[in-house]
Amino acid sequence: MSQNDSLNEELDENVEILIVDDRKQDLAALRSVLSEPGYTVTTAASGDEALWLLLNRDFAVILLDVVMPRLDGFDLARMIKARARNRHTPLIFLTAAGLDVNRLYRAYSIGAIDYLMKPVDALVVRAKVAVFADLHRKNERLLRQAQRLRESEQHARELEIDRLRLISERRYRNLAEAIPQIVWTADSHGLLTYCNQSWMRYTGLDLLASYGLRWLQAVHQEDAERTEQSWRMQVELGETCELRCRLRNAETGLYRWHVCHAVPERDESGAIVAWLVTGTDFEDLLQAIQARDEFLAIASHELRTPLTALKLRIQSLERSGSFDAAAHSKIVSASAQLRRLERLIAGLLDVARIATGQLDIEFAEFGVNAVVEEVIGRVKAATSAKPVISFAAGDVDDSVHWDRLRFEQVLTNLLDNAVRYGDGKPIEVRVTSDHDELEISVIDRGLGIADQDVARIFDRFERVGQRRVPGGLGMGLYITRKIVEAHRGSIHVCSELGKGSRFSIRLPRDPQAMVDAAS
Ligand code: ADP
Repeated sequence: MSQNDSLNEELDENVEILIVDDRKQDLAALRSVLSEPGYTVTTAASGDEALWLLLNRDFAVILLDVVMPRLDGFDLARMIKARARNRHTPLIFLTAAGLDVNRLYRAYSIGAIDYLMKPVDALVVRAKVAVFADLHRKNERLLRQAQRLRESEQHARELEIDRLRLISERRYRNLAEAIPQIVWTADSHGLLTYCNQSWMRYTGLDLLASYGLRWLQAVHQEDAERTEQSWRMQVELGETCELRCRLRNAETGLYRWHVCHAVPERDESGAIVAWLVTGTDFEDLLQAIQARDEFLAIASHELRTPLTALKLRIQSLERSGSFDAAAHSKIVSASAQLRRLERLIAGLLDVARIATGQLDIEFAEFGVNAVVEEVIGRVKAATSAKPVISFAAGDVDDSVHWDRLRFEQVLTNLLDNAVRYGDGKPIEVRVTSDHDELEISVIDRGLGIADQDVARIFDRFERVGQRRVPGGLGMGLYITRKIVEAHRGSIHVCSELGKGSRFSIRLPRDPQAMVDAAS
């Protein structure tokens, strides 16, 4: 305990005493009896005055006269005890000699601790008050000790929290330095405040050169404005985000594509206090994808020439009729395999076209119902299993302005899948119209798709589940989605494992008119 504390302690040891009596001479007598060091005596000449004083002061003990005009000692005592703040304040009644036993009991029942007979005996008053004063001091001391204990515990806790925070900050920094990716942090306004070694090594910019928004000087000129704008917008939105831009490598002077993930850091109230950004170089991946797409484009193109020649040969053999039944059935089966090969290669070519943005769409007017019937017929003819595919052309205006061949391709893909994954059960096609849109659904009651796979099936080369079903390369739905999107439409699937699937495409009747209207 410091010198100051002990001084405060002694000052605090001073005890406040309140005397309430309507008789001035009695008040004066008691005041002089109790005017001792360590006591501060306050007097009140009425119950009202006493209540007024009690509003904002605490007393170690209250001596109060029983007989007073208006508010007598008993009523006053009751009012004092009714207040939570004074519930435990000791009360000593002052009473004229000859207080009867009933009144004495009443005094105790209200909460009096003791009573003194008037005229008071100085020694007795001092002795009694001293007991309560002492009690009060001890109580105060205990309260102070408890408070100090709480404070020191709180202090220890704060020190421990500081220690843990330092450890976690150090670990966080070490982690940021240990990973090969670029890491930087920004304040709540999106201004860079820290960057790791990987960033400094790659860009050649130190913390000062990258501070605030100076890091933008590492971004390719063509990407800089877009990157700054999206970064500012994301900071404003306050959500986890992803930015792609080319960053300059200080050593080679070349730019490489990076994908940057930014995650906001929030305090307990949810307010953003900082941003954590990591940057990953995906130039190699990009080049690998580009090389694959180029290979796909060349390979599928090159494969088409010998395939066309082979097809012509087989077709002429099929037509010649100069073979016995066994040989003819082999030719028919070779022809079927050839058609499959042709479809796969056409698919690969389409994927390559999509990758290079060359999926051409030629819009023309036609009626959907007739095409649906035609495609159903073709799919049925091409399948040995002879599936049941029903379609009832409803009372729907079916005229559209789409790419007819591409629409046939979409429907063939969906029907093909419904046949392959349909478990031999009946399949249904529905065409419905909704204002300027048409919805075409292909419904099967076959294997269905697990929930977790639904999102993947429209991606490139994604196949899920049913290994036992002979299939393609997972291109069909990807191409389908791309064609639908090129018509400004969307594709959805509703499916349940073991129950079947419903694939629906929704396209505007005239996508070109929408583009024209928008421009
Ligand atoms: P694939 O040529 O492999 O069938 P798709 O792109 O057409 O490729 O389909 C992707 C995957 O989606 C398939 O491998 C299959 O697992 C699933 N799928 C597509 N259509 C259906 C369907 N009607 N019922 C169940 N699964 C389907």
